[in-house]
Amino acid sequence: MQALDKQLTGGHVSIMDRAVGIVNACRRPSYGGAGVRVVRSTSRTVIPRNGITLYSLGIRDPEGARTPPSERPGQTYVIYDTQRPPPEGAVASHARRAPPMDHTPLTLTKARVMTADGLHEGWIRVHGGRVSELGTGDPGPGERHDVGGRLIVPGLVDTHIHGGAGRSFPDADPEEAREIVAFNRRAGVTSLLAGLVAASPQDTLRQVSVLAELCEEGELSGIYLEGPFIAESKCGAHDPALLREPDIWEFDAWLKAGRGHIRMITVAPELPGALELIRAAVSSGVVAAVGHTEATYEQTLAAVDAGATVATHIYNAMRPLNHRDPGPIAALLGDERVTVELILDNVHVHPGAAGLVFEAAGPGRVSLVTDAMSATGLGDGEYTLGELRVRVREGRAHVVETGAIASSTIVLPQAVRNAVAMGIPVEEALRSASSVPAAALGLSEAGRIEVGGHADLLVLNEDLSVSKVMYRGTWEV
Ligand SMILES: [Zn+2]
Repeated sequence: MQALDKQLTGGHVSIMDRAVGIVNACRRPSYGGAGVRVVRSTSRTVIPRNGITLYSLGIRDPEGARTPPSERPGQTYVIYDTQRPPPEGAVASHARRAPPMDHTPLTLTKARVMTADGLHEGWIRVHGGRVSELGTGDPGPGERHDVGGRLIVPGLVDTHIHGGAGRSFPDADPEEAREIVAFNRRAGVTSLLAGLVAASPQDTLRQVSVLAELCEEGELSGIYLEGPFIAESKCGAHDPALLREPDIWEFDAWLKAGRGHIRMITVAPELPGALELIRAAVSSGVVAAVGHTEATYEQTLAAVDAGATVATHIYNAMRPLNHRDPGPIAALLGDERVTVELILDNVHVHPGAAGLVFEAAGPGRVSLVTDAMSATGLGDGEYTLGELRVRVREGRAHVVETGAIASSTIVLPQAVRNAVAMGIPVEEALRSASSVPAAALGLSEAGRIEVGGHADLLVLNEDLSVSKVMYRGTWEV
């Protein structure tokens, strides 16, 4: 191991507890030296030949920016031997714990497993954090867990969420952002995008760069920018003083700070420069969403033609549907290219209007989201959302100053249950909270159960409450 460390670093190595080594003053050219190939993945840097995982400690540089390990000289790393995870507290608290290396296959038996092609009755085997096999009949020897005929479904995917457990992504430091992720994971949401709200250019830069680090660790699936290029008259819970016209240079600076982890931005198509911004976003691999908008039907279609593929919480904060002025709602529902977000908390949208969305868009185009805020999981009280004060009474969140509905206070499994309660078939409701949002955001490793894929699984009770949660092959709950 020492020899490898030296190959990597040119000799700047010290040993720390059971971590294999710390590499200081790492220089990029040394990565490629001595035949060691380094592969960047979304979550970590892996040296595949030796089964060692390299984690960035995320040291702040003097300008306060965080930079990816592969591009920064003078960075500090901890190397873990993934065969031998470090004990709790052995390394700096902000270093990511090594992923569980589960060498004992676990078979979940008497299961009804929801895969891409339907329900599969039998068993599912998990090994090394991934689904290794699906089968029927006798699964053979090995460790088993009988789930008693329960449904096993993919971990849910929430692509529009601002906070939870008393924390809010826009204000969060890395530890606080991790608390939101952990809270959701325990509830059954194993993949999520961190949602930001309209903020000053500098604040957005800072927030994006903090969250990019969690994306690199694999904790988050990406960053979602809700605004600031949205309509003042449809600002909802965004501070109107912080809204502005689309600015490609500003957007470009966020993209750089986000290091490829900004996955979606909401834009109001009627604003000057909106179509150019949508084109720029899409060509950078960022999903463009239409929302918080006064756009006409025609302006909305122009945005979709420019590349927008998501409707941000349909109905909410958009020009209403009128038979002579159909606006964005008819345009977005009617266009096959668009995946439609729906906040199904029975507060933002009446179930009768929600039913129309499922009928008009059809299976595969409705994405259930929570738009949840920090108060989620805490109960009634007064909280902040960005710069605004929000009061929660009986689970309903309103902006104190304006009375506008703010974010919701549900976690995504509740939206699935609400969909089923209004008559949506169970499988369709579950896909609307897993494979549909994952596909809309290009999250190839989330929202589905398949051999070789991550073992992010939920065991559901008959009433669709979450019985157990498995994340990367380990029971969370
Ligand atoms: Zn919104």
